[in-house]
Amino acid sequence: MEHAKEFILTVEGVTKTFDGFKAISDLNFYMDKGELRTIIGPNGAGKSTLLDLITGRSKPDKGMIEFEKDTDLTRLNEYQISRLGIGRKFQTPSVYTSHTVYENILLSLEGSRGVFSALFARTTCAQRDQIHEILKTVGLEGKANDIAGDLAHGQKQWLEIGMLLAQDPKLLLVDEPTAGMTDEETARTGELLFSLVPKHSVVVIEHDMVFVRQIARKVTVLHQGTVLCEGTVDEVQNNPRVIEVYLGRKHERKAA
Ligand code: ADP
Ligand code: MG
Repeated sequence: MEHAKEFILTVEGVTKTFDGFKAISDLNFYMDKGELRTIIGPNGAGKSTLLDLITGRSKPDKGMIEFEKDTDLTRLNEYQISRLGIGRKFQTPSVYTSHTVYENILLSLEGSRGVFSALFARTTCAQRDQIHEILKTVGLEGKANDIAGDLAHGQKQWLEIGMLLAQDPKLLLVDEPTAGMTDEETARTGELLFSLVPKHSVVVIEHDMVFVRQIARKVTVLHQGTVLCEGTVDEVQNNPRVIEVYLGRKHERKAA
């Protein structure tokens, strides 16, 4: 049967070994365009390594990683992959701490030619509108003139998501965005990521099951570098193999 939607990402038979240890093991992973996919799995399951392979930070030993219809990512370097419209957010936020929130987005806009010209060349109306639109999306419209270094941890994370949005990525890869966040910040991050689809396709790696439940439509459980199970939050939480390797520890039944 033919797949109704177009894949944004096709990962087939991918293996990545470190000193004989298979961090990713014959992995198959498919994602529809416009999807918000959550990847969960215990520490060391290979989640970040998968993002490394997609973004060209490292190369698979074997297998295929295809973006959209027919772009073979394994042949491209990190810069080329980023130029295709694949943005990645690492766990720790990296913003220009001595610049304002507004300037941080400006510096990230596609077509900005270096820090100096971005900050001192006249910005067009269209650019200013775009920056305010992004700040609205990430909930920082009231903080445009604040110094980024003074933001709360959660706000820095949102700013960095805004900086990625400034490059208008087709696919956004977000690694454990809620680490260190308060419950309220976590909930707002969920809303933010949810608001990005289907315009952008989004992969979120996450530990916090409350958060996963909030945002997730389809969840992929990674274990020992391969897909253990895929489905809705309920499906994966009730899957005996998942319970055994991962969720069991968090969902031990206690007598009431
Ligand atoms: P996760 O993000 O799911 O916690 P990782 O992808 O970071 O897991 O790591 C998967 C496994 O691969 C771990 O055992 C880790 O130690 C190993 N690994 C990841 N990157 C490297 C590397 N650059 N060199 C050696 N081992 C690595
Ligand atoms: Mg990781």
